[in-house]
Amino acid sequence: MRGQMMDQPLLISSLLVHAERHHGSREVVSRRCEGDIHRYSYRDLAQRCRQLANALAGLGLDPGDRIGTLAWNGYRHLELYYAGSGSGRVVHTLNPRLHPDQLVWIADDARDRVMFFDLTFLPLIEATAARFATVEHFVLMADRSHMPAGTSIPNLICYEDLIEGASAAYDWPVFDETTASSLCYTSGTTGNPKGVLYQHRSTVLHAYAAALPDAMGLSARDVVLPVVPMFHVNAWGTPYSTVMAGAKLVFPGPALDGRSLHDLFEAEGVTFSAGVPTVWQGLLAHVEEHGLRFSTLRRTVIGGSACPPAMIETFEKSYDVTVLHAWGMTEMSPLGTVCTMKPGAEELPEAERAAIKAKQGRALYGVDMTIVDAEGNELPWDGQAQGDLLVRGPWVLDRYFNRDEDPLRYDAAGRGWFPTGDVATIDADGFMQITDRTKDVIKSGGEWIGSIDLENIAMGHPSVAMAACIAAHHPKWDERPLLVVMKKPGREVTREELLAFYEGKVAKWWVPDDVVFVDAIPLGATGKMQKNKLREAFRDHVLPTV
Ligand code: ADP
Repeated sequence: MRGQMMDQPLLISSLLVHAERHHGSREVVSRRCEGDIHRYSYRDLAQRCRQLANALAGLGLDPGDRIGTLAWNGYRHLELYYAGSGSGRVVHTLNPRLHPDQLVWIADDARDRVMFFDLTFLPLIEATAARFATVEHFVLMADRSHMPAGTSIPNLICYEDLIEGASAAYDWPVFDETTASSLCYTSGTTGNPKGVLYQHRSTVLHAYAAALPDAMGLSARDVVLPVVPMFHVNAWGTPYSTVMAGAKLVFPGPALDGRSLHDLFEAEGVTFSAGVPTVWQGLLAHVEEHGLRFSTLRRTVIGGSACPPAMIETFEKSYDVTVLHAWGMTEMSPLGTVCTMKPGAEELPEAERAAIKAKQGRALYGVDMTIVDAEGNELPWDGQAQGDLLVRGPWVLDRYFNRDEDPLRYDAAGRGWFPTGDVATIDADGFMQITDRTKDVIKSGGEWIGSIDLENIAMGHPSVAMAACIAAHHPKWDERPLLVVMKKPGREVTREELLAFYEGKVAKWWVPDDVVFVDAIPLGATGKMQKNKLREAFRDHVLPTV
């Protein structure tokens, strides 16, 4: 029997329509690359999105056409999110931190027909414009006064002119909710990047789940500042969840240093933020150095790579900011798990609570996960057994864009699961903990050593700014852990002190065999430590034999 409720597709435009009607005066505040602060309301946003949707049609873009963006977090990027997807086109966010060759490759693979870019990236586009095979229009996201006097970019269009010249009369089209909405390429640490094509339905469902109390817990009273970039995995869906909740949105633009972020948090009364650990490191260093506080910030999601327990402790104990440790990936829109407590946790001893908080968390409703051994057998949820982490759900990738191969693994019941490439344990309460990425696992005499655990311990040392643990070749054990350390400025620590720091914290055979000190640990385009580069750099490192 068919249910008798309205058949209304879940479309991204409906988030904007709701915000305009119910939270019309709520603000969107942006630090612009032009240097100033811009503010307007959801009402203004909605009107400009309608104008932009008309302008996109004026550029000759058809439904399904890809719109490339090279932009920071800001209101114009948000307008592209809503006008682009809402009008049935596909917003393709590109990561400007990638090498220009890779950017060109990605834009060609996606067949982007137009490229919108921030002022910061004018030199980048001037250097590459001629190389994009399918891009017909380049649009500088600025007003007329910021347009370059002379440029090699053919027929450069001014964003504000484009909006101004378009009518604000526009009805958001209604179409199938499985229609593609946005596209993001994985960072491609191995091989060429692969496109992940999100849909309206997956995006709206993900926004619902992310806003729930045991996830980001967003409300109309929040002021949300996503530090995590809109150019990678849609800033973890915050531009959708925040608009859904009717919360105030604050965008940091290109200024992601500690001082700029802290100033904006305080000036705009930010209550909620989200970012990768390396960004928070800069912010915490600034706040500590100047004896500052967070007067309004109450919660922050930290994910993208493992959040060191020492960082969680600093936020919670010194600054009264609750850390929500989260895990996900581009292929998962990205949220999979968030670490929030279950009932009874208040009564646990502090060390046990801290151990739970360091885990990546519980699966959101909508994400089904399991761990399996090499033969595909499900492993017990006992917090001990480590296996390959598999996921499935309505906002998990089924196929890569433009690729024929089937990335899924099938269980005995024929159900497809997406292999995350992560190695994890799951405990009896359903808390998942990533021990490693499959390719980063250290195999010592056939046993696995989890590099994340070893890094977290090192990063708890007061003199350590960042630490990576990689496999180094060992004549007897095949691989042994080598700790690569970047010290905090002005701090000292020796190899022996660091090795002694592990005593009593891990099994003896897990303690790294050696420590090397480096000036900097290479970070990838999404702020993660590039362990493949470190493995390459220390390929010939000779471990001490005693
Ligand atoms: P890519 O950089 O390959 O595009 P994503 O941004 O999609 O990758 O990142 C996904 C990966 O990042 C996960 O598979 C996992 O290895 C790692 N990751 C994300 N969040 C966490 C976390 N909280 N703890 C540990 N690892 C994490």
